[in-house]
Amino acid sequence: MTPTRGFAVVAMIVAVAWPGLSAAGAADAVERLVGALLGDTPLERDLRQLADQIGGRPTGSEANRRAVEWALTRFQEAGVDARREPFEMPVLWLERSATARVEGDVEFAVRAAAMPYATATPAAGLVAPLLDGSRGSADDLARLGESVRGAWLLVETDELTDIPGLFREYVEATRIEERSFAAGVAGVAYVGSRPRDVLYRHNASRGRHNRHPLLVLERGAAQRALRLLRAGRSLRLRATIDVESGGPYQADNVVAEIRGRERPDEFVVIGAHLDSWGLGTGALDNGCNVALVIDLARQMRRLGLVPARTVRFALFNGEEQGLFGSWGYARSHAAELDRHVMASSFDIGSGRITGFFTNGRDELLAVLDRALEPVRGLGPFVNINQPIVGTDNFDFMLEGVANLVANQESANYGPNYHAATDTFDKVDLDRLRLNAAVAAAVIWRFAETDVGWRRHDRAEIQALIDSTDLADQMRMFGLLEPWQSGERGRKD
Ligand SMILES: [Zn+2]
Repeated sequence: MTPTRGFAVVAMIVAVAWPGLSAAGAADAVERLVGALLGDTPLERDLRQLADQIGGRPTGSEANRRAVEWALTRFQEAGVDARREPFEMPVLWLERSATARVEGDVEFAVRAAAMPYATATPAAGLVAPLLDGSRGSADDLARLGESVRGAWLLVETDELTDIPGLFREYVEATRIEERSFAAGVAGVAYVGSRPRDVLYRHNASRGRHNRHPLLVLERGAAQRALRLLRAGRSLRLRATIDVESGGPYQADNVVAEIRGRERPDEFVVIGAHLDSWGLGTGALDNGCNVALVIDLARQMRRLGLVPARTVRFALFNGEEQGLFGSWGYARSHAAELDRHVMASSFDIGSGRITGFFTNGRDELLAVLDRALEPVRGLGPFVNINQPIVGTDNFDFMLEGVANLVANQESANYGPNYHAATDTFDKVDLDRLRLNAAVAAAVIWRFAETDVGWRRHDRAEIQALIDSTDLADQMRMFGLLEPWQSGERGRKD
């Protein structure tokens, strides 16, 4: 579909959704905003610049620093006040290179990627027997017995097709790595889960506390190695991991703001993360939603629409490594959090927004329903009052601030997730514009309407954890302990 035809379709969809909307002033503002966002804006140019010209931008990299400059410039040229807000990253970790070669009875090269926070190997490589670790279960490790000591464990995976598969990957990795390193393996090498030998990088179970070599191997060659092992061949893996690593350092979020006309000291946040992993160019995750956030700010300013409350447009950094930028925001703005009415995150690519997760705050549902009314032609929308862990709403949730996560159709998000294939061409630009319209309607409503809720205290947050699967999700991302210890989240 050409852009022109795409926008024609878009305009039709929206026109259908608007009977009698222009009556009220607020509705009129939403209508103008939506109309502008569906028109000819620099959204696509912005995404091309961020994804193609700057490219993959893990926090701590030169590309990430360029992305910060770029974002500041985009807001400034739109006439929107923006600033860099420093926060501390706990450790530096960037992959320089990773290589792997199967040696022994049969020899061949395998493309490899280091998993986040994997430790470096000696420059000549870590050479060790390669063992069939099957699924890496307790039984699998028991079967291998003492032979796993000092070996590379090759672990099978299912081919990844969707977002539920992704969550299974996270959950399983946690257990596999705990077991394997407890049994004394030298390193874990996963059979890549992505079809067509695509490489990707995921957070390992222990995150920044990992002290072991961890690799993802291209699927086809890794499966070949598994077949050879099962045919009784004796193999070694020679793998090199070269990383740039270091202690704490300062990184920056980019926070832009349109000050409220009536209640400037109350805040509504729309957030997306600026950083990405470095194998692809972070177009779906999360360049497209960065472009959405910038375009929303730009169009509000261009139309002179000033909401009752202050709207903050937050481009967080350090998300991929452990949600550090939004945590930093929560600390820097601690004194204002009582006056944060709502903080939203957009982070599931460019699939259609199907509704929002309200993360345990069912009092948001009624406001959301009203907010989505002007864009109901882009629905149906189903809002779900469940807590979600995995993006920048997390520290707002743990601080008791009402928060939303846009729920989206998976589209092509799963197969390209954190992968070399996450590039500009994967983004559905027409759909992204429609999502911007949905975001605009929601942000405008929350910035305008009277709300009955307040910030939750620690007991209320703990009650949410106790009454849902939140603890399991937090454990999966290594985030339960920081809450329990009081390192992260609202204090008593
Ligand atoms: Zn993301």
